[in-house]
This record gives sequence, C-alpha cells and structure tokens, in this order.
Amino acid sequence: MDDKSLETRLNNIQAALKQKGYRLTSSRQKIVQSLLSCGGHITADGLLEVIHETDKTVGRMTVYRTLELLSELGLIRPVYQGTGAAHYILLDGGHHHHLICSGCDAVIEFDECGLQDVGKLLAERFNFAIEGHLVEFYGRCHNCQ
Ligand SMILES: [Zn+2]
Ligand SMILES: [Zn+2]
Ligand SMILES: [Zn+2]
Repeated sequence: MDDKSLETRLNNIQAALKQKGYRLTSSRQKIVQSLLSCGGHITADGLLEVIHETDKTVGRMTVYRTLELLSELGLIRPVYQGTGAAHYILLDGGHHHHLICSGCDAVIEFDECGLQDVGKLLAERFNFAIEGHLVEFYGRCHNCQ
C-alpha cells in the first residue's frame, strides 16, 4: 500500500472515531497505522509485536481495547478460526472478500464486488441497516484441484 492511500485511510478512521466522540490518541494512531500497513489478518498479540518493533510504549491492554473499539465502529472485524485467537480483518472500505482453499488454507483477496444489489435486497427484506460485509468463498485453489 502506498503512503497516500495509507494516509487517506488513517484520516477516514480518525474521522469515524471523532464522529463517535473518540480521540485518535498517539497510541491509537500507532495501532491503526500498524494495522493498516500490515494489511490486517493479524491477531492482537501479533499486532502488539509489530508495534513493539518500533515503539515499546504502547501497552497490551491499549491494543486490545483499541481493536475492540474499532470492531464496534465496524472498521475492522474479528474472525475466529478454530480455537485460536481472533484475526482482525480490515473493513474500513466497507467490505472485504476472500477465496479460501480447503486444501492448503491459502487465502486469496479480491476487490471485485457484485454484492451491492444483494445487500440492498437484504436490507429491505429484513429492515436491516447494513454497514459492511466480509465474504468468504471456500473451494480448491489452482494447485489443489
Ligand atoms: Zn490450495
Ligand atoms: Zn483479507
Ligand atoms: Zn463487497
């Protein structure tokens, strides 16, 4: 990801926090920045390790609380696989898509999204205010077929 889109996304997240009455403290900023630059798909402890490579002042609880806050705001989403710790997926663009291979567990990201119509349909049918989606298709990758 280039610096510009990183900055734009950081600004958007900052705006979302501000709108809900939260400040982007320097610790929170560091956490969000690290999360964006590593692209998500990381556990809270994994993220803490990344942050501590450059800044040891950010505490474990702050990382946990910030991830919780960002989840509540719909900017990230915890994904639980098996019994391990949750991985956090970036959802600040409103949606996130995966192809997951059941053979080798490869995760392929894709951006093309034809799901806006389905979203509209579901929103109407269930009177549900949709804020985002994480879609995962399961199957076999090229190598595992
Ligand atoms: Zn595979
Ligand atoms: Zn992903
Ligand atoms: Zn989508």
